[in-house]
Amino acid sequence: MPQHDVLVIGAGLAGQRAALAAAEGGASVGIISKVHPVRSHSNAAAGGINAALNVEDSWESHAYDTVKGSDYLGDQDAIEIMCREAPDEVLHLEHLGVTFHRDDEGRLGTRAFGGASAARTYYVADITGQALLHVLYEQLMKFDAIDRYEEWFTTALVRDESGRIAGAVTRNIRDGSFEVITAKAVILATGGNGQIFDPTTNALICTGDGIAMAYRAGAPLMDMEMVQYHPTTLAGIGLLITEGARGEGAQLYNAEGERFMEKYAPSKMELASRDVVSRAEQTEIDEGRGFPDGTVALDITKVPRARILQALREIVNVGRDFAGTDITREPIHIKPGNHYVMGGIRTDVNGETGVPGLYAAGECACLSVHGGNRLGANSLLDTLIFGRRAGAHAATEGRAMAMPKPAGSELGREQELIAGIISRDRSGRRVSEIKAELGKTMDADCSVFRDENRLRGALETVKRLQEEVETVSIDDRGSVFNQDVLGALELKFMLDNAECIVMGALERRESRGAQYRTDFPERNDEQWLKHINLTVNGGDIPDVSYSEVTLTQWEPEERKY
Ligand SMILES: Cc1cc2nc3c(=O)[nH]c(=O)nc-3n(C[C@H](O)[C@H](O)[C@H](O)COP(=O)(O)OP(=O)(O)OC[C@H]3O[C@@H](n4cnc5c(N)ncnc54)[C@H](O)[C@@H]3O)c2cc1C
Repeated sequence: MPQHDVLVIGAGLAGQRAALAAAEGGASVGIISKVHPVRSHSNAAAGGINAALNVEDSWESHAYDTVKGSDYLGDQDAIEIMCREAPDEVLHLEHLGVTFHRDDEGRLGTRAFGGASAARTYYVADITGQALLHVLYEQLMKFDAIDRYEEWFTTALVRDESGRIAGAVTRNIRDGSFEVITAKAVILATGGNGQIFDPTTNALICTGDGIAMAYRAGAPLMDMEMVQYHPTTLAGIGLLITEGARGEGAQLYNAEGERFMEKYAPSKMELASRDVVSRAEQTEIDEGRGFPDGTVALDITKVPRARILQALREIVNVGRDFAGTDITREPIHIKPGNHYVMGGIRTDVNGETGVPGLYAAGECACLSVHGGNRLGANSLLDTLIFGRRAGAHAATEGRAMAMPKPAGSELGREQELIAGIISRDRSGRRVSEIKAELGKTMDADCSVFRDENRLRGALETVKRLQEEVETVSIDDRGSVFNQDVLGALELKFMLDNAECIVMGALERRESRGAQYRTDFPERNDEQWLKHINLTVNGGDIPDVSYSEVTLTQWEPEERKY
């Protein structure tokens, strides 16, 4: 049975940064990923990473923008840490070999991103995530103290007799064998849950596994209702057109040729925060000023062609291959689409969840630095700063204690569950059918605009799908790379996530950040300047509790862009 001081589940940016910090802290580390690490979803990050590195900029300005962007739901102590530590982290990455863009004088170059009062986004063309991930992976390979479990799937957390998290049940995807990996501390870094929605910008692997595993283990999920719809995605397929395009000067127009952001955010225009721009676009579309395909236009031709080809080359390919549009010569049709979950596993600034032995970092965690709305290019930063902190803290904790002994029957239970799915007759609904119904429901009833009726309908559908998933049928009966059976497990994880998102959205009877309730259209600080926590209770729906938002130097004020 493999044993480690620290077990990191997830090898995207948060997981890799956590593993490196834990190893640097003297711990023996295992890191698991259900795909090859450099295929983790962080690879898709395009536009860049924020840091107040310029002498004219300051971490306080970055922090204030983040607080305002969060619609004052972000915890300001965590935001201060993130923004203060950002410059050193970016320089550290640069020294490790990340080829950040440089300007004509050879200085690190920046672009503007939404909701930011300075151009503080550092980037590698529009493949920033890929560049970061590959450099971290090189570092990971250097450490003898880090064992990599690549293409292993974690199905559940395990505990010791005292109830402390003591490792995880994992399945080797290559041959279907099981292993319980024991650890003194477990860090979940399993990323987001965008696949609950259809369409989404997120990869197929973003199914909220870690969020569901932590929830099932009793960790509270915080502010799950806060789901970001990105303003510029391709209709129908959800592919992202990076905010970097607007950062470089692209403009938004409705079908009447009006640059409509003048009405909604006269000062920041297209570079208002994402919730504001997405609502503006959806309003234009809903009120009949969009194009017949339910979109508005993003005009990237405002950016000089040579600059597009230098700094936005990936979206040139996306436009050509997926929309038949040459973005250097004509506007491209876009709409708001599911992109990011601000909510997640509640943690403190060291990644601790409150469940002994369990940490979380990255998109699956909620500190909360993004509150009601994440600013573009703050997520990569979050993964790295809090991945590092979680890794370092877990290493200190792990090194100081004896190896726990997994006590429970989790392994047998998980083996039985999977064997049951594989041997089941084919009378149930297929994974893809249930997933499609879930995705369409969430996109229709729990997206940019929400109300009680539609949310109740969505909850009913999710509850029905939770019953149907118990008899879901698959085709592959084998053990080698059986993605079919993993799809069934992921679907169960997704339904847990979906239930919590809808529950949170029903509970928060106000409009703040990404949560816009047409039946409660105002922000209500008196009653709702607080986090919503959902905890599993074994019953039909989760327990709801609240926690304070930490304010340090910025009192809530009206949010205008
Ligand atoms: C198209 C796109 C562009 C973006 N661009 C930017 C940007 O420019 N700037 C920015 O700041 N943010 C951006 N974001 C957001 C950002 O990329 C993500 O929030 C961030 O990369 C998440 O990193 P992570 O390490 O938390 O998770 P991920 O990178 O998603 O990694 C999750 C890891 O967990 C593993 N895993 C999951 N479940 C299991 C399981 N059951 N068993 C084993 N392993 C498991 C996966 O294999 C993977 O290794 C973008 C997002 C998208 C969708």
